[in-house]
Amino acid sequence: MPEDPAVQKINTRCCITGGGPAGMVLAYLLARAGVEVLVLEKHADFLRDFRGDTIHPSTLEVMHELGLLDEFLKLPHDELRDIGVQINDVHATIADFTHLPTHCKFIALMPQWDFLNFLADHAKRYPEFNLRMRAEVTDLILEGDRVIGVRAKTQFGPLEVRAELIIGADGRHSIVREKAGLQVQDFGSPIDVLWMRISRKPTDPVQTLGHVDSGRVLVQIQRNEYWQCAFVIPKGGFDAICARGLPAFREEIARLSPYLRECVDELKTWDDIKLLTVVVDRLKRWHRPGLLCIGDSAHAMSPIGGVGINLAIQDAVAAGNILAPAFQRGAVPGIVPVMDALTSELSTEGGTLPAAIAMGLTLAPAGLPSRQIASPFLRGPVDQNGGTPERNVGGSAFAENDRTASAPELEYSTVTEDDLAVVQRRREFPTRMMQRLQVLIQNRVISAVLASKKQFALPWPIKLLARFPILRRIPAYVVGMGFRPEHVQTDDATAEPPEETA
Ligand SMILES: Cc1cc2nc3c(=O)[nH]c(=O)nc-3n(C[C@H](O)[C@H](O)[C@H](O)COP(=O)(O)OP(=O)(O)OC[C@H]3O[C@@H](n4cnc5c(N)ncnc54)[C@H](O)[C@@H]3O)c2cc1C
Repeated sequence: MPEDPAVQKINTRCCITGGGPAGMVLAYLLARAGVEVLVLEKHADFLRDFRGDTIHPSTLEVMHELGLLDEFLKLPHDELRDIGVQINDVHATIADFTHLPTHCKFIALMPQWDFLNFLADHAKRYPEFNLRMRAEVTDLILEGDRVIGVRAKTQFGPLEVRAELIIGADGRHSIVREKAGLQVQDFGSPIDVLWMRISRKPTDPVQTLGHVDSGRVLVQIQRNEYWQCAFVIPKGGFDAICARGLPAFREEIARLSPYLRECVDELKTWDDIKLLTVVVDRLKRWHRPGLLCIGDSAHAMSPIGGVGINLAIQDAVAAGNILAPAFQRGAVPGIVPVMDALTSELSTEGGTLPAAIAMGLTLAPAGLPSRQIASPFLRGPVDQNGGTPERNVGGSAFAENDRTASAPELEYSTVTEDDLAVVQRRREFPTRMMQRLQVLIQNRVISAVLASKKQFALPWPIKLLARFPILRRIPAYVVGMGFRPEHVQTDDATAEPPEETA
């Protein structure tokens, strides 16, 4: 089929679909390790409310390992050091983060867009990092069984990106996993959650609290000037709540948490209340040749424990640790990303070029030295000038002025499906454990509370936690760190080598 000249074409080493926590952290880590990466994010900015604003101690530890922690903590944030629950009139602290083996012994509460903007700003110092906002991925490009690229809609028209590896980090409604035909296991959920924001008075308590009463659960996350409130309802129950009317809903909130009564009138319309349809699912296989899913796109989490962001970031760290060395098996140091130049200058007509592009080669834009062109699908020994003889020939083989030079040996990628399977093996266990725990709490505890018409008795685990403070470290560890905390194992490719001592 003839090439459509209206379609922009970009080649890169790794294309990440979705600029959420999973996508942005992985992009940062790959770019830092010297791997050219392009993030496609469908929105124009990171500004979205109620996406979860929790930055867990394990993520703060990752920031420390990256040397970003001090600067990060200068951003406005709140610090959550423990979590309490109020059942009927009994109050108990159930998680205590102050003993965690981390630099930060708290959960930082910060708008997610501040976190993502922070990452994007710091990633920009790496020339291998590229981010395209308003680029919505709509389809995959396949060659046989292998995913070799994505199609996207952008404000400038259609875009095709070909890459050695596509990462699906596009959240729980992932188009990537759908188009890849990856099989989803749905674990069901008996609950949905209504999110809202209610002002916080100086006289209000300081602890993040879960209020549990017969038939109702309200979680209040303490922010500086407001409470981020999650009202748990039976699945599909939102219409019935709307039918009872907003005044009745406000009254329910005020009865559960009387000090909110003064401010609950701020909920003026149902638009002030966001419905989160809770889904708990997991892909059987997180990958297929040329594609890996991470974060919510591989496993949508229940809001219980507020661990979705943490797991997404931990996936990204593990993927970075495993994939950066896999990319480096064939990397050429010193390659300059040329995506923007290519976007505007790439020409597809004539000669062997369409075939070359189909194989993943980039065309040297006029005037750009051919050795600066990333030809990511080539392999060969690296010479001292930061290129391979074959690769430099390869770059010039498809440069404007020299299309006739012989084609180099081509390979799709240095990242194999085994590498992708290693990422899944590493992250499946902690995900599975966390989801089991969430499903257990949803089905056994929350469902029972929502169904009960009389006062709910204090469950024995809560009694134990209330009685023995040392036990509160266990839920704090599970929520704050997860079942398999990840650490950054890759180097900063731009860091100065240590000086040799005589
Ligand atoms: C209302 C609500 C409240 C939550 N509260 C918490 C909480 O307090 N704590 C917590 O840990 N977790 C919370 N979560 C869950 C948490 O938001 C997710 O688990 C986490 O954000 C997953 O990160 P991710 O990067 O995998 O996916 P996402 O954060 O969903 O990011 C996916 C990104 O991909 C983009 N995208 C989607 N489709 C495309 C496409 N076709 N092309 C290009 N880009 C695309 C999206 O715009 C988005 O930026 C909450 C979720 C919701 C919905």
